[in-house]
Amino acid sequence: MKEINTLFPTKVARAAGSGGSVPVECCQICGSEKLDDVLSLGYMPPVNQMVSIGEVPRQQPWFPTHLLHCRNCDLVQLGLAVDPEIIFPPEYPYTSGTTKLLRDNFADLQRESAALLGLTDKDLVVDIGSNDGTLLSNFKNAGHRVLGIEPTDVGDIADGRGIPTLKRYFGVEVAREVAREHGPASVVTAANCFAHIEDVHSIVDGIVAMLKPDGVFISESHYLIPLLDTLQYDTVYHEHLRYYSLTSLKHLLEMHGLEVFHARPIPSHGGSIRVYAARRGAHPVQDSVAHMLAAEPRGVAMAERLARFRRDVMLSKLRLLSMLRDLKEKGARIAGISAPSRASTLVNYVGLDEGIIDYVCEIAGSLKIGKCMPGTGIPVVDEARLFEDQPDCAVIFSWHIADELAPKLKAKDFRGALITPLPVPRVL
Ligand SMILES: [Zn+2]
Repeated sequence: MKEINTLFPTKVARAAGSGGSVPVECCQICGSEKLDDVLSLGYMPPVNQMVSIGEVPRQQPWFPTHLLHCRNCDLVQLGLAVDPEIIFPPEYPYTSGTTKLLRDNFADLQRESAALLGLTDKDLVVDIGSNDGTLLSNFKNAGHRVLGIEPTDVGDIADGRGIPTLKRYFGVEVAREVAREHGPASVVTAANCFAHIEDVHSIVDGIVAMLKPDGVFISESHYLIPLLDTLQYDTVYHEHLRYYSLTSLKHLLEMHGLEVFHARPIPSHGGSIRVYAARRGAHPVQDSVAHMLAAEPRGVAMAERLARFRRDVMLSKLRLLSMLRDLKEKGARIAGISAPSRASTLVNYVGLDEGIIDYVCEIAGSLKIGKCMPGTGIPVVDEARLFEDQPDCAVIFSWHIADELAPKLKAKDFRGALITPLPVPRVL
């Protein structure tokens, strides 16, 4: 058996309960203090801090937003942990069921894992950060037992849809309680929250505590490699503490006796990675693992890749501003399409405000309508306004799903120009 590096962090950046933030002084996975600066996006408001339109401006917290690279385990991570009470307020307005691409992905996750693992109706599937229950609804419909764990009010939506949901922050205590009351889980999933929770080691401990001996942990996370390749600096915000490569994820899981036995890229959020792990030897390791690892830069090669990323991010900001300046000089009216969390980073890093962007549209029913984009006075409105108003152009802030959105906007008779801001600003 291969020995793994079991140097656990001695200084865990724990912001929970601080009411503020705590700097990350050693690597969240391996504990190394050799952390190099990758990129600074300046100070940012929490992405879900959206005040109502027309509200008198008041002081609000802003937090430094920068990335660090661990020279020891290659983890790219945020340089600051913010109290989860601040970044995940109870009224957290994000629901995963609103994007078709995500719904399709979760349906695929159920099909793939049920086939690979031969799941039956006796098997319990637990989803950490279960949001509105979109992921688990697929397992429930396929006849499996399900349980969601979701601390925010969005969990009530899942409960209302018949997905039993524990409204708690996940940790080892909650994991033991789940195992005691529901029995051990055949599958534990964590989609897009595995990067969110501080003290990741206690999270993995909790996951291991819930798993049957041959149980499988399936994680889906933003994948660092496409993030770098397509310049998705806009996915950098305080919810995302860690930006995993398979190399760094494997390192983390091995520290807890888990072995990665299958991994593959998936399209969610502009490029994510789905990773299957179980106790060492429980499942045969597929070729996919070695293939993905071989394609990732490491050490000096990763440091060089990150230096290029830093320069490209800076240039992309200047290019977008230059394009918008040209439009504004001609008197153009500019709207924005959709207000995902990532739009907050882009808007604040580039410096867009209500003088440049008249409003941002969300589809009817979005909980963000009636509020302002974080850190700005740009109102978020029902997309019906776009079709009545017909501004000269619209910037697609959820540019990673522009292929899905653009035809819909044209079909609803939007006649203005559509702009995608990244990886290179362009008119579609
Ligand atoms: Zn490290």
